[in-house]
Amino acid sequence: MPSVSRLLQQPAVIQALERIPRAVIVDSLRAEIAAAREQAGAGAPPPSDSVLVNRALQRAEEASKPSLRRAINATGVILHTGLGRAVLSQAACRAIQAVAAGHSTLEIDVESGRRGSRQAHVRDLLCELTGAESALVVNNNVAAVLLGVTTLAAGREVVISRGELIEIGGSFRLPEIIRAGGARLVEVGTTNRTRLQDYREAITEHTGLLLRCHPSNFRIVGFTEETPTTELVRLGREHGIPVMDDLGSGAMIDTGLLGTGPTTTLQMAIASGCDLVTASGDKLLGGPQAGLILGRKDLIERMARHPLARAFRVDKLTLAALEATLRLYRDPEKACREIPTLRYLSRTRDELRVMARRLKGQIAAVCGERILIDLVPENSEVGGGSLPGENLPTICVRLRVTEGHLTEEELAARLRRHEPPIFARVKDNAVLLDPRTLEKEDELEIVKALSILIQSETNGRI
Ligand SMILES: *Cc1c(COP(=O)(O)O)cnc(C)c1O
Repeated sequence: MPSVSRLLQQPAVIQALERIPRAVIVDSLRAEIAAAREQAGAGAPPPSDSVLVNRALQRAEEASKPSLRRAINATGVILHTGLGRAVLSQAACRAIQAVAAGHSTLEIDVESGRRGSRQAHVRDLLCELTGAESALVVNNNVAAVLLGVTTLAAGREVVISRGELIEIGGSFRLPEIIRAGGARLVEVGTTNRTRLQDYREAITEHTGLLLRCHPSNFRIVGFTEETPTTELVRLGREHGIPVMDDLGSGAMIDTGLLGTGPTTTLQMAIASGCDLVTASGDKLLGGPQAGLILGRKDLIERMARHPLARAFRVDKLTLAALEATLRLYRDPEKACREIPTLRYLSRTRDELRVMARRLKGQIAAVCGERILIDLVPENSEVGGGSLPGENLPTICVRLRVTEGHLTEEELAARLRRHEPPIFARVKDNAVLLDPRTLEKEDELEIVKALSILIQSETNGRI
């Protein structure tokens, strides 16, 4: 076997050293030499130096790629947690760039030059847009709920309907979060029906909080009854117990206006009199990961003083993106145009058909007969535990391989290995590309990936 130092003299390696750190190349050479030695031990002929170098450079190239990187979402799931939930608006991206690349006014009052609050950048905007008395932003919505529970009900009881004891993605369950907040969970009602009387009977001198949680990732249909929030609020007032409403998806405009089903907006939850409302920043709001807490000033001040508020603090990049996103909502039409989440939601079937036809034509032009391409009516998903069961009709480009031995799973895997990785749906022996979550430049990338794939198939390099 050649030595590492001998391979380091190869022109291809010397060239690569200009781009890739030496340590990475040396590690890759060592790994390939070791692999070749093992294969030689099993009787394989030793590879030439140039073959070894090629393999090592490929490995080094792979190791140099960022792990967290841009990806193309052709799944049609708008808020795909695996793919980073909400895509940020250009305005939000610019705001992050500006704040990241230099110093900023994060916690300083420009007038006085004295220390200020990082919350100031978004508090007034949130109040203006939602009608809330005060607002606090934390790292995510689970942090918001936990902070609310622990500040208002640690050592006391949290009353919640059995129909709302949800599990959030990643197997985090609301009952565990309530326990983590040091509160005791008191379940009332049944899975499908919970009446005001159920809450009333559960209230004792130990009750610290009445919690409502929107069952965000499933829907119970049929014989159901839930207590209207306004009634719960009235009950809370009678007993001097705060009511907190965990909205989860946190839309700022009625998604009904976008052609989807109605949802409780942040404004509606505030208007119904809830003492506190919590929501995610990166679901239907279309902003960065964050937990929004809206509501009564006195309660929010107590929460802001709790030590956990410091642990759940949002960073400046989040605040920059959130402020920019919120500013767009001052003009709801602009918000719908410029916030990708809302744009994807509001795409009509006709628009999607035009996109799907265009994509199909481009793919057909490079793939010829090798792939069977047609259009199929399908449904997109909102995802991210928002608007469950919502039908979002779409038109997908369906790809089926006609010859060779590439299965639909392998085709999908090859798309994922493209740079940037492309994520599609696999269904009924086919790969489906949903235009709902695609931008124009993504279409070109998909065509390029398929063209490379067909080329390598033709050359027999499978
Ligand atoms: C999504 C969701 C959460 C979790 O929000 P994160 O921002 O992901 O922490 C909590 N509650 C409800 C109802 C949700 O839909």
